[in-house]
Amino acid sequence: MPELPEVETCRRALEPLLVGRRIGQYSASDKALRLRESAESMAKLAGSTVLAVRRRSKYLLIDCDEQQVIVHLGMTGQLFMSEHSPAWLKHEHWRLQLDQGCLRYRDPRRFGMLLRVGRDDLAGHRLLKHLGPEPLEDWQANDFIRLCKSSNKPIKHLIMDAKTVCGVGNIYAAEALFRARVHPLRRARLISAKRLTLLHHTIIEVLSRAVESGGSTVKDFVSSDGAPGYFAQQLQVYGRAGQACVNCETALKSLVSAGRRTVFCGSCQR
Ligand SMILES: [Zn+2]
Repeated sequence: MPELPEVETCRRALEPLLVGRRIGQYSASDKALRLRESAESMAKLAGSTVLAVRRRSKYLLIDCDEQQVIVHLGMTGQLFMSEHSPAWLKHEHWRLQLDQGCLRYRDPRRFGMLLRVGRDDLAGHRLLKHLGPEPLEDWQANDFIRLCKSSNKPIKHLIMDAKTVCGVGNIYAAEALFRARVHPLRRARLISAKRLTLLHHTIIEVLSRAVESGGSTVKDFVSSDGAPGYFAQQLQVYGRAGQACVNCETALKSLVSAGRRTVFCGSCQR
């Protein structure tokens, strides 16, 4: 599932390919996505120029003159460019023809979204208006500590809540908690300010490193066969239940909380 670093990597890869391009025809499969703008509405983009490719949480925002395209990759979405317009791939659901190349979207599980909004409507859009701070931009440790100290929720729930900070999904939440040595189910208000400061720092570090290592896969987003790969981040706990902790060699434990599986070290994380 694409998390914030994957979406940021995708944004960085697409930006130089999209900015300055003129949009042509939109075409789509007949399958439903979680949310999809009508073809009629998407056709209104034709003739406009891409000004910027931005990101808010896990949404990609493509600024096109007075309009904006919002893309969410859902669980299995992939955006990529191709020079020509060969036959549609299996699970390919839409294409936006450009004056150079073609932006394409593939999504086997179809949880992705594609929306077009007026540029002035973007900030107040229902998908975006309740989002908390961006972890790599404007997220302050003091705000995080204040929020934690007033919450009785398990810390993992709190850091995965987009109102606390946006874009921290299951993988990076598990990794950051491990590195900060905080048990995922520990009640937020019971954790010391010192430990919360460390956790805040660790979340930012884990996400930044993932974005940096994603840079090397940028070329994968541009291919004619449409197979962009996500980078293999060095994960210390996620997906490693039962294997030895990298710190103490105890077998890592796993539990399901709020419907999400989490892996942790029962000895290192308190
Ligand atoms: Zn351990």
